Amino acid sequence: MKSEEILNIASKRGFFFPSGEIYGAKSGFWTYGHLGTIMKHKFEDLWRNYFLKLNDNYFEIEDVNILSEDVFKNSGHLKHFHDPLEENGKTENFNLMFGLKVGVKGDEMMYLRPETAQSPYIAFKNEFMALRERLPMGLAIIGKAFRNEINPRQGFFRLREFTQAELQIFFDGNNLDVNFDEIKDYKLRISDKEIKCKDIKEPKFYVYHLAKIQQFYLDLLGIPKEKFRFRKLDNNEKAFYNKVHYDLELKMDTLNGFKEIGGLHYRTDYDMKNHNMSINYDGKKIYPHVLELSFGVDRNIWGLMDIFYKKEKERSLFLFNKKVSPVEVAVFPLVNKDKIPEKAKEIYESVKNEFNCFYDSKGSIGKMYRRMDEIGCNAMITVDHESLKNNDVTLRDRDSMKQIRVKISELKETLNKFLDGVDIKKLGKLI
Ligand code: ATP
Repeated sequence: MKSEEILNIASKRGFFFPSGEIYGAKSGFWTYGHLGTIMKHKFEDLWRNYFLKLNDNYFEIEDVNILSEDVFKNSGHLKHFHDPLEENGKTENFNLMFGLKVGVKGDEMMYLRPETAQSPYIAFKNEFMALRERLPMGLAIIGKAFRNEINPRQGFFRLREFTQAELQIFFDGNNLDVNFDEIKDYKLRISDKEIKCKDIKEPKFYVYHLAKIQQFYLDLLGIPKEKFRFRKLDNNEKAFYNKVHYDLELKMDTLNGFKEIGGLHYRTDYDMKNHNMSINYDGKKIYPHVLELSFGVDRNIWGLMDIFYKKEKERSLFLFNKKVSPVEVAVFPLVNKDKIPEKAKEIYESVKNEFNCFYDSKGSIGKMYRRMDEIGCNAMITVDHESLKNNDVTLRDRDSMKQIRVKISELKETLNKFLDGVDIKKLGKLI
């Protein structure tokens, strides 16, 4: 099964594996290995560079993971953050928050945050002052969230400790200006339809952010468009405080169809009222409204692995683009003699600062190629006897397995073009 194949590669190659396996790993807790960590950082950097650039008053903050009981009393989590739990034929509400007893007597109740969102809400006034009282203001957190999920057994999808990337946009409820003209004819994928932004009956600022999110997935991450969609939640499904709520979903074979990986929530002034955060703005007292862009980082990583996984007769590979792949360039000596490893090392040293690189010399060239295919490495450089004479190397394309010779003096330039998506055939004569 595809799911097992990916989990197997993830564990064997160092993407991720159950935490503390030697002590009988608890479900819902995972360790990122060396490749998964690079991929996660790449995803987080793409996210932050993209969403924080939407406005010059959007910034990232960081908070502790443990927050006081009062936060969750006022946010509504103590009362409402439940899932139904069936026991002895009776259904009860089970609160998903992890509680902690803090202090020497253990008499202070605190909680591991179940979402990053509350941190920007309670920090709102500090940052509003520090950022010179301008709206809109955006506060993002990329950080851990914790939920005592009742059934965390869906592999890497439903975790008990996970990472969220969330942007909270605070604005005067009457006014969140966006450049709607820029996206008015752009088509959004909503359920099984494609609809132009200007024909969607939601507030303009909301539609604008749907468009920006879709562009992030299709243009940056390179998700094929038929694997991405929004789904509008109806009144029965959405939280009562969300005025508009669309989930973003990726189509994953491993989970039998479209699954939620994030959401866009128009939460009105619910949170700012809960935390009593009124401000004087534009000559009046207001409770800012909140638009929340919420993403599960780990679910996105799983989505990328599911969507880009390919099994061929002789090999399996991930078709990652360079923006998400954990290794962009691998360098190998064809054989471990005749000064070839020395030359290969020299080439590796010359490119390793510019690309995510890996050097390997263990095993036959065929095996080294397969191992790199299996982790989604984009470009493979082989150094052979001819390299010593002609000062050139072989560049192999992961997807087509086609190869060309490249002069060492032109290697960086050629790699840059190749990793930007230029077809290998356009970069040299196939050999
Ligand atoms: P679900 O319905 O799958 O439990 P949710 O609707 O409760 O998710 P939100 O509270 O909206 O999720 O959280 C925002 C995002 O955080 C989700 O879209 C998801 O990507 C991520 N997320 C939530 N719970 C988990 C979890 N247990 N494991 C991994 N990621 C999660």
